Amino acid sequence: MQIDLLFQGFPGRSSRGFLGWSSCVLIRPVGKAPILFDTVGFNERILLLTKLKELGVNKEDVGTVLLSHFHFDHAVNYPLFPNATFYLHEEEVKHIENNGEEDLAIPVEMYPSLRDSGRLSILTGKSGIVEGLNWMHTPGHTPGLYSLFLNYRGSKIVLASDTVKNISELRTGEVSMTWDEVRGKESINAIRRWADIVVPGHDRLLQIKRNGSHVEVYPINESAIDIIVPWKDDKFSIKI
Ligand SMILES: [Zn+2]
Repeated sequence: MQIDLLFQGFPGRSSRGFLGWSSCVLIRPVGKAPILFDTVGFNERILLLTKLKELGVNKEDVGTVLLSHFHFDHAVNYPLFPNATFYLHEEEVKHIENNGEEDLAIPVEMYPSLRDSGRLSILTGKSGIVEGLNWMHTPGHTPGLYSLFLNYRGSKIVLASDTVKNISELRTGEVSMTWDEVRGKESINAIRRWADIVVPGHDRLLQIKRNGSHVEVYPINESAIDIIVPWKDDKFSIKI
């Protein structure tokens, strides 16, 4: 199995609202069709397809799209993949149907086409295996959020999406922008107990080091975003 981080998340916000720059991971099991965990935002769809192509993956090749939850910055590019089966958790479906107008990060207008695509599969219960991968229901940020728990090249890796949005949440266990704060903290703790490496929804790769019951969290790599502004002579990079 090969895992590639196509997009690294970015935790910044702006005075114009959320940037929504989320993480996205490509998983290629040996002998099986590629799997995508989340799909980044509408504004990134060209780059998403470019990055896939650079790895030799055409959009028609993707067999599975795991939608960790149905927020705009993770889910809206599912229609790009004509042969994929899409997976949502049952609690997320209920959340869209019951709270779609209230949770303004949900692109609620896109849900009927997903529901009626004939290619939506529903994950049920607390945990299971999807396409050979271990998933666990990690609610809080949304009621139906799920994460992947993977053993990969000697490390325990969690693709956490917005269960862990950034380094601060993993360090402190405190969460923001959550539908259910208590369950959100429980979900983060489950990840803190198990993982060596966490791919958060909106931050760098994070490493967990344990010393007895003491947990320390470090970023593994740097964040660097190039901003190109036409009225500036050069592009500039933001590192945090
Ligand atoms: Zn979200």
